[in-house]
Formats: sequence, structure tokens, C-alpha cells
Amino acid sequence: MLQDQKMNNREVLISQETIQSRVYELAQKISSDYADEEPILIGILNGVVFFFVDLVKALTIPVTIDFIRASSYGSGTVSKGAITYSKDVEINVKNKPVIIVEDIVDTGLTLNQIIKRIEKKGPKSIRICALIDKGERRSEEVILDYSGFQVEKGFLVGYGLDHDERYRYLQDIFVLK
Ligand code: 5GP
Repeated sequence: MLQDQKMNNREVLISQETIQSRVYELAQKISSDYADEEPILIGILNGVVFFFVDLVKALTIPVTIDFIRASSYGSGTVSKGAITYSKDVEINVKNKPVIIVEDIVDTGLTLNQIIKRIEKKGPKSIRICALIDKGERRSEEVILDYSGFQVEKGFLVGYGLDHDERYRYLQDIFVLK
């Protein structure tokens, strides 16, 4: 609790107001790009939940949703490269347009493996929507079709992002020192 109170005294990196207005812009762009289609949005659990819900609620087109759960970080702050799945996509994506929704792309390892996994299921198309594009440690080439914010470095928490399961509930995004 004490740790969380300290976090609340920290400088906010991205405020909830800034997040909301950017999420609204992303939703408008997606709604316009998919005006004639009904995409399947696949959220990568758990960090994406706040972003995912806000994004889907702001869309003005019909969509279906599903989730995939991949773990690469455990309780640390550096990607280990190998990921494990504890929930797979259940909806049939064959010949359907898919948008993968991710919280943060750091090295790009997690996203690239998930893209490959979903590609094998034969979707019509795959686009990527990420709340935060963290370029500092990018080792894989990933094209982010929709990107909320560019952040150079730092381990971020809040708005669904955790460190060892803490801080997800914070409404703003902070840098963990
Ligand atoms: P990557 O495989 O791109 O290195 O890592 C992607 C995943 O690591 C993200 O989905 C996210 O769960 C986690 N991650 C990367 N950077 C951060 C960060 O700054 N804060 C938090 N909370 N998670 C991060």
C-alpha cells in the first residue's frame, strides 16, 4: 500500500485525459478504416484490458472480440524472448480481418510470435494496434498500424500495466523508478 501511495505522488508520464483523447482518436481511425468490414479485435492479456475496453467502447463499427494470453516477463522487467500461452484465440478468424491489440511493444518478440500464431489460422488480414510503442530495445521489425504513444525508455505502470501484478488499477501511466 505504501509503495502505491508513493507512486501516486510521482510525476505522471501520460495522464488519463491524454490517454482517453488518444484512444478516442485511434478508435475513430479504426472505425473509418474498417467502415465496410467487421474486424475481430484480439487483445493480448492482461495488460491490455483497460485500453482494450476503452478502445472497443469508442468504436462506431460492429466488431467481435477475443483474447490471447501470452507471458514473457514473469515478474521481471526484461523480456525473456520465449513466451508461453495460457489462453489461445477461440473465435474462428479464418478469412476475417483481425486487429491485434497490445499494451506495449518493447523488443517486439512477444508480438511477432503472436502474429505468427494468428497467421497460421488463416485470417484475411492482420493489423496491429498498440497503446505504447517503446522503441528503446526493439530487436524485431514490427509494423504498428495504430500506435497511441511513443515512449523512449523506462518501465511503465498504470492503466492496466503492472509490475509483478501491482499498479494495474492506477488511472494514469507512470514510470517505475
Ligand atoms: P516485448 O516482447 O515487446 O519485449 O514485450 C512486450 C510485453 O512486455 C508487453 O506486452 C508488456 O506486457 C510487457 N512490457 C514491455 N514493456 C513494459 C513496460 O514498460 N511496462 C509493463 N508493465 N510491461 C511491459
